Amino acid sequence: MRTNFRSEQLLDPNMRDAEHALRACVHCGFCTATCPTYVLLGDERDSPRGRIMLMQQMLESGSAPNEETVLHLDRCLSCLGCRSACPSGVDYAALIDQSRVYIEEQYARPLPERLFRNFILQVLTRPALFASLSVGARIFAPAVARLPGRLGSMARKALRSRPRPHLPLEGLEGGMRKVHWTFRGPETKNAKRFSGGGERDPRTLLLPGCVQRALAPEIDAAVIRVLSRDNKRVDTLGGSGCCGALAFHLGKAATAKVHAKAVIRACEASEESGAVDAVLISASGCTAFLKDYGKLFAGEPEWKSRAEEFTAKARDFVELVTPAAAPSQAAADAPVIAFHPPCSLQHGQRISGRGEALLRAAGFRLAAIPDAHLCCGSAGSYSLLQPEIAERLRAKKLDDIKSTGAAAIVSDNIGCLTHLAGELPVFHIAELLDWQHSRDRP
Ligand code: SF4
Ligand code: SF4
Repeated sequence: MRTNFRSEQLLDPNMRDAEHALRACVHCGFCTATCPTYVLLGDERDSPRGRIMLMQQMLESGSAPNEETVLHLDRCLSCLGCRSACPSGVDYAALIDQSRVYIEEQYARPLPERLFRNFILQVLTRPALFASLSVGARIFAPAVARLPGRLGSMARKALRSRPRPHLPLEGLEGGMRKVHWTFRGPETKNAKRFSGGGERDPRTLLLPGCVQRALAPEIDAAVIRVLSRDNKRVDTLGGSGCCGALAFHLGKAATAKVHAKAVIRACEASEESGAVDAVLISASGCTAFLKDYGKLFAGEPEWKSRAEEFTAKARDFVELVTPAAAPSQAAADAPVIAFHPPCSLQHGQRISGRGEALLRAAGFRLAAIPDAHLCCGSAGSYSLLQPEIAERLRAKKLDDIKSTGAAAIVSDNIGCLTHLAGELPVFHIAELLDWQHSRDRP
């Protein structure tokens, strides 16, 4: 596709990447059928192809976008299902990321919208505050459940995310192995160390993140136990905070960079006490963003280089775990579970089938979810900003999962788990791998 950018616009490396993506698009429309918002709303402007046209007009113009453009770009989930489907290799992420930043800089959102976006950012990136508000929401549940608008939707979501039930594991007993593991080592200044033993154990830095730390700290405990059994030394890294993904997806690139720099600095400081083999954050949405740190600092050579060094070590949980060497045979009466692959795993990081393989090797029976490539509607802060579309996508995903007869939903991302909670039990994959081996139920 032809583009008409002025040469000075292309001095910005992010704009150059966006222009490159625009030129690659041939408007074939193969991506439309994989776009959840197009499938749901049937409006070309809510399809990848339609949005690409809107983004081209907006970015080339160099002026403030109109309301209609912002509406249709805000409705994009950034799920990147379109990128996976595109035969021309259009980097849709480069386009939508640059467009979100552009809108944030050029467009004056109505005051209530600005306040709500800032509220989300301030609350969700502060685990102590978020945890307190979640507790408050549960105490005052009857009143909170009646709150109107997006605040009410946010509160109701917090209410249905707890309690997290236990999966009946009886059917798995035939395939279980007894594994002994211990935590060992001193607690360092900003890191707690755990290890399953070994000569020179691969050292993994676990970043505690923000939302998951507040909503489900038991997930990281399970992650540590699983990796320790895998003979990996795990250091949990304090002082790193939010990875910056939330701010970035709100178009606030400067805030995202502040978070990212804090994470990179904390990891570099930790490397002074020993080489780091891998950096892990146990939410696939955050991992996808860690892997993009290099792009975040395009145009800042020193930070780009530090970011790329960091990114080379970023791993998703499912990449780090070694599948059982002697796969367990699933008992005929083992519960059937549905592995919901987050978009950030299958489209963002382009990792497919790994979570399912780990679960099968551990002796679980898996259901095949129809339309598993479609987003569940969580998409970071999307479910708070676009609750109606997010609820419709959630309902479809739950219908698809329930049609398989699955007893529980398993995923790799706290956002999906929280969004899908409420009808079937939901678990992080680390919890199932942990329980399968140790039967150590929380
Ligand atoms: S993004 Fe790819 S699949 Fe979609 S219209 Fe453009 S070239 Fe075709
Ligand atoms: S990122 Fe997802 S919602 Fe956005 S255009 Fe692509 S497929 Fe559609």
